[in-house]
Formats: sequence, C-alpha cells, structure tokens
Amino acid sequence: AAVIVGIDGPSGTGKSSTSKAVAAKLGLRYLDTGAQYRAITWWMLSNGIDVRDTAAVAEAAAKPGIVSGTDPSAPTIAVDGADAAGPIRTPEVTAAVSAVSAVPEVRARLTELQRAIAAEAPRGIVVEGRDIGTTVLPDADLKIFLTASEAARAARRSGELGGKSASDLAATQAALAKRDAADSGRKASPLAKAADAVEVDTTELTLEQVIECVVTLIED
Ligand code: C5P
Repeated sequence: AAVIVGIDGPSGTGKSSTSKAVAAKLGLRYLDTGAQYRAITWWMLSNGIDVRDTAAVAEAAAKPGIVSGTDPSAPTIAVDGADAAGPIRTPEVTAAVSAVSAVPEVRARLTELQRAIAAEAPRGIVVEGRDIGTTVLPDADLKIFLTASEAARAARRSGELGGKSASDLAATQAALAKRDAADSGRKASPLAKAADAVEVDTTELTLEQVIECVVTLIED
C-alpha cells in the first residue's frame, strides 16, 4: 500500500530539505504545500489584489491555475502555466503569504488540491506544510512535527538567503518570528502539532541525522 507521510513545523526547521531527501531515498513523491500558498500569493500580488482585503482574496482564490511537480529530485511549481519557482521566493511574497494563507477560501482550495495529489501518488508521498497532520491528511501513516530553537531557525534561514552580518540575522529572525506568530494565531487550520505526531527537535541535529531519524520512523 502507498505510504503517506506528513511533515509539519515552523520555518527554518529543515522541513523542505528533510522531506525531499526522505522521499528520494524511499521512492516516494514529494509535495511542498508552502510553495502552493506562495504561488497563490504571487498571483494575487501580480494581479493587483490587496492581500489585506480578505473579501478580494477570497473571491480570487479559485482563479490562478496551480500545478505542482512532485518528483523529489526536481520539484516544480507553475502558475497559469508559467514557472513560479523563482518569483515565489521573493521577500514581497514571503511578507504577504501569511495574510493570504489565513483566508478560508484559499485554504479550502489548496487542501482539496493537496488531497488529490496525495491520493494519486503511486507508492506514496511526503507532504510538508503547517497543517498536514491536523487538517490535510489526518489519516497519514506517519506525522512528524519538526521544531528547533528560534536562534537555530534564524541562522539556517539567514544562511539560505545568503545573509552574513549580525543585522541580516536579526532581520531574518524578526521576520520569521512574525510569520510563525501569524501562522500559529490564525483561525483556519493554524500551524499546530497533531496529537499523534512525533516531535523531532532538530536544534542539535545535522540534516543527515534528521533524515535518518525520519526514514527509521517510516520503516518501523
Ligand atoms: O513552507 P513555507 O515557509 O514556504 O510556507 C510559506 C507560508 O505558507 C507559511 O508561512 C504559511 O503562511 C503558509 N502555509 C500554510 N499552510 C501550509 C503550508 C504553508 O498556511 N500547509
């Protein structure tokens, strides 16, 4: 039978790197649900929609065509047929994504899409996000909740963004804390650990150790 794995947690815990590597090792598909929320956000910004206007975001939620490629060695994201991998990582999208993600119509649409993608994966899939264990795939075979200290998360994210100075680090930490607070505080499917999720604190672990830990949990 296909194996369904959900990996949730705040930003900077190594969710994407871990999920991709685990899926590649075990021959599973991989879905980055954050990329889908970013893709809708990018479309809203590109189409002049005020992301603070909840009604306008809700009304437009169904408009962009979102297609995710689920090969863990080369995941893709397209919006209305255009490659969106670059544009969804800009600071503008990162700053706006929590507001768009809080709108129930956006979540309903993407949740349905995510369930359909998981159901179609031939051998199974690793799905990463914020609400996979609690909402999208409550019957997943394994749920992981990754955590790390705020300092460790900021250091990893700042490194990914190419930041070098102490002020880059402080700015990254502040932006990350703000986004996590918004994602945890929203009414619709907030970032949360499912009751039956296995929590893995990655603060003192290397990426290899986290991957090994998750692979072992799946194989057990
Ligand atoms: O994972 P990533 O940091 O790219 O996610 C971007 C944003 O998308 C998160 O900060 C959150 O607002 C939203 N998101 C969500 N639910 C998910 C995945 C991401 O609300 N399952």
